[in-house]
Amino acid sequence: MTDATTATGATMPVLILLGPPGAGKGTQAKKLEEQFGLIQLSTGDLLRDAVARGTQAGKAAQEVMDRGGLVGDDIVIRIVADRLDAPDCEQGVILDGFPRTTAQAAALEGLLAQKGASVNAAISLEVDDAAMVERISGRFTCAACGEGYHDSFKQPQAQGVCDKCGGTEFKRRADDTAETVRSRLAAYHADTAPLIDFYDAKGALHRIDAMQPIAAVERSLQAIVAPVTGAALA
Ligand code: ADP
Ligand code: ADP
Ligand code: ZN
Repeated sequence: MTDATTATGATMPVLILLGPPGAGKGTQAKKLEEQFGLIQLSTGDLLRDAVARGTQAGKAAQEVMDRGGLVGDDIVIRIVADRLDAPDCEQGVILDGFPRTTAQAAALEGLLAQKGASVNAAISLEVDDAAMVERISGRFTCAACGEGYHDSFKQPQAQGVCDKCGGTEFKRRADDTAETVRSRLAAYHADTAPLIDFYDAKGALHRIDAMQPIAAVERSLQAIVAPVTGAALA
């Protein structure tokens, strides 16, 4: 753990899921949200929402997202700062897809310090690049509740019906193509992978083999997250 304040449980637990596109960050963040009462803060979801609403940030982000680049630090940091200020985040957050650059990691430290909090654990989901194209190109989500699925690895139990909400509409992301995955992986290796060393140096890093099946990754995560949130393992 990085400081004494967080060890007392007096401040909000902060967890980071690091990993390339398709590593399983969103899938696992949703499970942690349910199991530990943490709030999933996905910058990808927040940016897609800004694009859909046609905000100024959304307009600036859209073209970059379409080609698989990284949206500017200023835009992303502002979106995260706003979201972290919402009262529900006091119960603890799981950051999914943020930070993605060293500038974002530095900004996060400042935002958390203002709240007397710090990063309790940065968990690196480690996967082979070769598996990512398959993970990304088979991904789809429920249009109503956002639950994630996969053509080969996680079909709904009843075909065409969402396990979570019973919805029957599903969608695929415009940027989930084989070409964009290559750009996104390149951005990951150039800009985001250095954060693994950054959190390792702080003693906050955990690594998980995310080539395992979804349920096995989930168990490995629970073993890390339970002590951090003070919750007992089920
Ligand atoms: P990320 O948020 O890191 O981009 P997702 O959680 O959206 O990744 O997962 C990408 C796709 O791979 C989804 O379709 C998901 O159902 C599937 N998936 C996630 N974790 C695993 C896993 N451990 N094994 C196989 N498929 C997985
Ligand atoms: P994935 O987990 O599959 O990489 P995300 O939903 O996290 O996808 O992100 C989708 C896109 O949104 C990224 O390719 C990037 O353009 C943008 N994005 C999301 N989070 C960030 C961030 N922290 N910094 C810069 N760009 C981001
Ligand atoms: Zn649903």
